[in-house]
This record gives sequence, structure tokens and C-alpha cells, in this order.
Amino acid sequence: MTLSKGCVLCNQGAKMVLFVTGRCHRSCWYCPLSSERKGTDTVYANEVPVDVPSQIIEVAEMMSALGTGVTGGEPLLVLDKVTEYCRRLKDHFGNDHQIHLYTAKAPDENELEQIKGLVDEIRFHPPRESWDTILDTDYIRSAKRAKEMGFDIGIEVPALPGLELLIPALPHLDFLNINELEWGETNAYQMRERGYELADELHNAIDGAKGWAEELCRHDKVHWCSSGFKDSVQLRERLKRIARNTARPFDEITDDGTIVYGILEPVQEQKEAVARFCGERLEPDSFEEHGDRIEMAWWFLEKYADELQGKKYVIERYPHGGMVVEMTPL
Ligand code: SF4
Repeated sequence: MTLSKGCVLCNQGAKMVLFVTGRCHRSCWYCPLSSERKGTDTVYANEVPVDVPSQIIEVAEMMSALGTGVTGGEPLLVLDKVTEYCRRLKDHFGNDHQIHLYTAKAPDENELEQIKGLVDEIRFHPPRESWDTILDTDYIRSAKRAKEMGFDIGIEVPALPGLELLIPALPHLDFLNINELEWGETNAYQMRERGYELADELHNAIDGAKGWAEELCRHDKVHWCSSGFKDSVQLRERLKRIARNTARPFDEITDDGTIVYGILEPVQEQKEAVARFCGERLEPDSFEEHGDRIEMAWWFLEKYADELQGKKYVIERYPHGGMVVEMTPL
């Protein structure tokens, strides 16, 4: 199987996701964009809203990114932003920082010239209605031209009935990725209208989607990207990279890439005594005072739970102040 360079890095969790616009010229019924992002021009680097472009570099640094996936909406609607951000990333991390671009357009020669040397890999998303005559579309014409100009090229589509119609396009591509069709808040109505159902209650995958991809998946250049894989492997590996760069000495990094630490909220009158107690038993970098609470290694809090008076709990969360996964009172 041929895995694109972008996919190799994605599997390692080493790819930053740069969402450049929620606007799009198309309105695919299966579009997975959330209502929060759809139609807006907010830029996100991973899950972080970007106010100034330098934040993109900070987010990429935080996860030691080896590449970036530029996505949307339709990135080519904001071509100036795409070229500016990609230039910044290449200038900062070097030309080896691999950048792939998703697009549902068929960029012309002029657009390709503008992203040449900045984008390494183009992932075309021809809409479902163009699959029957894929060889006669601008997508293939654009892909061929892009290939001649030195881009790696592929098609990236969701798993829908009729995928085998894309087989004639394979000789013109470096790879073809199929994303497992995902159920989301904005496409749920359309999914139900078509009689689709969730495969199980744990993931957003649609029952039967793998079957639609079976014939196409027999070909070497084709890669099936399951929604479970995205949720588990890619996210977990990315979290681990962020955790390794940002965890404090007393944060424990789990196999899932989350961090675990203890929090003590001492009663007001005992605050100083508690800080002294920690200071006598722990290295200075093994606990931190934050206003009314002290954060420390979870095992220390558990060990001295009887001596440390106040509200005590162990927190598991995504690294760098991310989402709280679990809070266990002691
Ligand atoms: S082209 Fe992509 S971003 Fe645009 S509507 Fe379709 S799925 Fe959504």
C-alpha cells in the first residue's frame, strides 16, 4: 500500500492541523464541519483559535510538528493566508516541514504557481457528483498539471457508495485516501434521510461504509483511514508529543497522552503550613502554588492525604491546560 508522506507523519501524530477557513463554495450533504466552524473565517491551529499568525508557529513548536495539514472549508478561498502561513512554517522549520493541502477546487496554473514550493502534497476532493466522469473533470486536469510541477498528488474522499467509480483516476495519482464517513451534528439529518446508521455507539462511523470502499481498497495506492484510527492513534500520538514538551516535572504522562496530577485546596488558615509541608518533602519544581490551590504529583497527594487538610482531587486532562478527562476526589 502506498501511504502519502503526509499520512506517514499523521500516523506519528506529528502533523499539525491548520484550519484556515470555515467557508466553502460547495455544500456537500456529508460535510463534517461543526456549526461552530462552518461559514466562519476563524483560523485554528489544532484546536487553538489563532489571533496572530505567530501563534501557528507556537502551536507547531508545542507538538514538535514535522508537518502541517492545511484544511477547511475551502483553503483556496483564502489563498493569501495559505501562502503566508505555509511560508512562515517553511521559514521557521525548514523546507522539510511537510505541508499538505486539502481542496475541493481544481486549482489552475496560476494558483498552483502561488503554492509551489510551499505546499508539498495536494489532496483533491472531487465532489460525489463528479465521480461518474472523473477523467473528464478539471480535478484530473489540475492533478496532472500539479504532478508535472512537482507536487505529490492524491484524492481524498469520504466513504460513499460509488467509490469504485474513482478507479480510472488511480494511474494519474500518487495515492487515494478514503476517510470513513463520519456522523456529526451538522450532517445527522442528511444521514438519517439516507437511512444511514451509526456502526456502534463509541465512534462516529457509519454502518456499512467499509463495504462501499472494498473494491477500491484492493488497489495499491488506496488507503482507508478509519474514524476509530483518527480518534485513537492520531490523536493519542499528537497528545503525547504535546505532553512531552509541556508537562511539568510532577505531571505524569499516561499512555493516552493525557497528564495526571494532584490538586489540594487547603483551608485558608492552613495554607502556609501546607505549603511548608510540601516544601520540606518535595523538590521546589515538584509542586506549584496557584492562588488558593497547590498542584503536585498525584502520588504525593495520595500518600499524605490524611495529613494534608482541605479539598483534594486527582485530575487527568489533555496536556497544556486542555480538556479535563477525569476528576477523582481523594
Ligand atoms: S468541499 Fe469539504 S469543506 Fe466544502 S462542503 Fe464539501 S466536505 Fe465541506
